[in-house]
Amino acid sequence: MPRPLQAHINLAALRHNLGVARRHAPQSRMMAVIKANGYGHGVLRAARALDGADGFAVLNVSEAVALREAGFNQTILLLEGFFSADELPSLAEHRLATVVHCARQIEQLEASGLPVKLDVFLKINTGMNRLGFRPEVFTAVLDRLQSCPSIGKITLMTHFASADEAPGIAAQLACFDGLATGREMPRCLANSAAILRHPAAHGDWVRPGIMLYGSSPFADESAASLGLKPVMTLRSRIIAAQELEEGDAVGYGATYRATKPMHVGIVACGYADGYPRHAPTGTPVLVNGVRSRILGRVSMDMLCVDITGHHGVHVGSPVTLWGEGLAVDEVAAAAGTIGYELLCALAPRVPVIEG
Ligand SMILES: *Cc1c(COP(=O)(O)O)cnc(C)c1O
Repeated sequence: MPRPLQAHINLAALRHNLGVARRHAPQSRMMAVIKANGYGHGVLRAARALDGADGFAVLNVSEAVALREAGFNQTILLLEGFFSADELPSLAEHRLATVVHCARQIEQLEASGLPVKLDVFLKINTGMNRLGFRPEVFTAVLDRLQSCPSIGKITLMTHFASADEAPGIAAQLACFDGLATGREMPRCLANSAAILRHPAAHGDWVRPGIMLYGSSPFADESAASLGLKPVMTLRSRIIAAQELEEGDAVGYGATYRATKPMHVGIVACGYADGYPRHAPTGTPVLVNGVRSRILGRVSMDMLCVDITGHHGVHVGSPVTLWGEGLAVDEVAAAAGTIGYELLCALAPRVPVIEG
């Protein structure tokens, strides 16, 4: 029998979650964000399941080209734009849309002499201070883009820093609207959190990411309560069991000690698979469908779970690390992080089963 760890990817759940995004933003076109290898789900696999989307957003030209070569005809957007001028011929050849966020990119577009016009998403820095042009230079930048022969349709874009929590998006949205109002240009603003909580920010294109994968963008609202279904379920089995006496320790560093006689299951899953090493004792896990907790430090290839009093649990019993029955967001919270990080970190060595 091979090592029992597998990531099950529920393609129907991906499609379902795209439908949830559509119901929240019925007037907007869907730019499904499939960066980071489709948030760990596989970029082409995610794209195939999300074929009903109007566009795809990725980071690298190579991913974008792979999508074109796989036959996707939708808008494909490079979320950070091109990184160097030598990528521009590929953008033209494969009809890739690009974010333009800095003056250097405009200079390179002006100097490119491309044979076709590229569609661009002009990124405005409305307060996140990561990528984009400051509001003061917006008019000048727009004039310059509009007179550049290599540029086709221009969509106005920004990204919110706090769509998921206080102080929200009001200041950034007001800044964006102040620049965009009166211009007949499509707008693209909302990530998952803004799709779900800020209809005023929906605009012509929305950019759902995490919600498509069935994880909540909010710390205070679960994916299930948002009507989202988990897409990735990380499943393994117990490969060994230990009986501990009071005072016995478990795992590296002996960070957990039994306070009474205990049964411990050893699970085939560790940090080299993408399970967070910093998940502490108490992080939830499902053993044979019943909630339990991990004990001690996560190792590279294994972790330990408490099966004390779990009748009928033995070597070979199934374990769910996250997914159906145990929200990835719950595991992430216990480990001091967010669902995004766990999903994206799924290691390439974990076999993927589509269903
Ligand atoms: C990643 C990303 C998104 C998607 O964000 P989620 O929170 O996953 O919905 C949207 N827009 C930009 C610019 C991004 O980088």
